Amino acid sequence: MEQPAVTTAPNRSRRLSIVVPCYNESEVLPETQHRLRDLLDSLTQAGKITPDSEVIFVDDGSRDTTWELIRACHREDERIHGIKLSGNRGHQTALLAGLASAKGEAIVSIDADLQDDIGAIEKMMDEYIAGADIVYGVRNERRTDTTFKRTTAEWYYRLLARMDVEIVHNHADFRLMSRRALEALKSYSEVNLFLRGIVPLLGYRTAIVHYERAARFAGESKYPLRRMLALAINGITSFSAAPLRMIAVLGLLVSAFSGCMILYILWIRLFTTQGVPGWASSVIPIYLLGGIQLLSIGVLGEYIGKIYLESKRRPRYFIDDSV
Ligand code: UDP
Ligand code: MG
Repeated sequence: MEQPAVTTAPNRSRRLSIVVPCYNESEVLPETQHRLRDLLDSLTQAGKITPDSEVIFVDDGSRDTTWELIRACHREDERIHGIKLSGNRGHQTALLAGLASAKGEAIVSIDADLQDDIGAIEKMMDEYIAGADIVYGVRNERRTDTTFKRTTAEWYYRLLARMDVEIVHNHADFRLMSRRALEALKSYSEVNLFLRGIVPLLGYRTAIVHYERAARFAGESKYPLRRMLALAINGITSFSAAPLRMIAVLGLLVSAFSGCMILYILWIRLFTTQGVPGWASSVIPIYLLGGIQLLSIGVLGEYIGKIYLESKRRPRYFIDDSV
């Protein structure tokens, strides 16, 4: 993903916005707020960011005291802002809502649960100042995730790679974007968002910062298996038509096989005395074809569902309150 160095140096203004999506995070939020404020202080002192830098917490329709915590923090520190979405819209959409209201020239997105190393933001700023437009946070290892999450994620990344979806390995949504990269991202108006897949398409100069991924500081994962699956399927069908092509190939293979079967049955019927062609040769194809057809219809449905959702051009979220 190496791009040639930019010739006209972009504006490297050091106003930083940190966007944090939060869904029922009242258990970890006080600690996260504390650490992010410390980070703003130390980066400002070091001259790496300007004093008008900000943190934006996006409350993704939480049902606990998350929003109260955000408001309280804003009263104490005017660099802390909050947006409250009118309902739970999911991580990707919450993130986008926060990105859309960020005022900084460098914009970092990070999860609320302190799994991503807040200290890596300084390194990201260094890369940004040195000229990168997109800085990916890449975790060194996933020791702290469950074996299940680790292996499924590993398989999934491989599958995506096979389907030509360009994606940064072991990178989630911890990244820095420059203002112009963010503006480019915002021009993608699709409703089904898989930011991890879109950001590499922007094509600006990129850099990578490695960090250790910690265990969730408190609370439990807001990504149950069901949601992980949904995100995974979205990731494939939003970026690749390979499954559709696979259906065509499958259809060809099955047709060829059926052709052979027909010849075989005809041969039995015409040139042998073995009598009625067997039960098997009529029943097996029924099962086989039934299965393949259902599978194919399922995949088609997945894409048609996507067209349906996109064609409605629905607004992605509404803001209920902000501080
Ligand atoms: N999140 C959100 N809306 C949701 C689910 C999650 O804003 O519907 C936020 C959550 O508060 C956290 C981030 O997305 O800051 C990542 O979620 P989580 O840590 O639960 O996912 P995991 O790390 O287990 O994949
Ligand atoms: Mg997490």
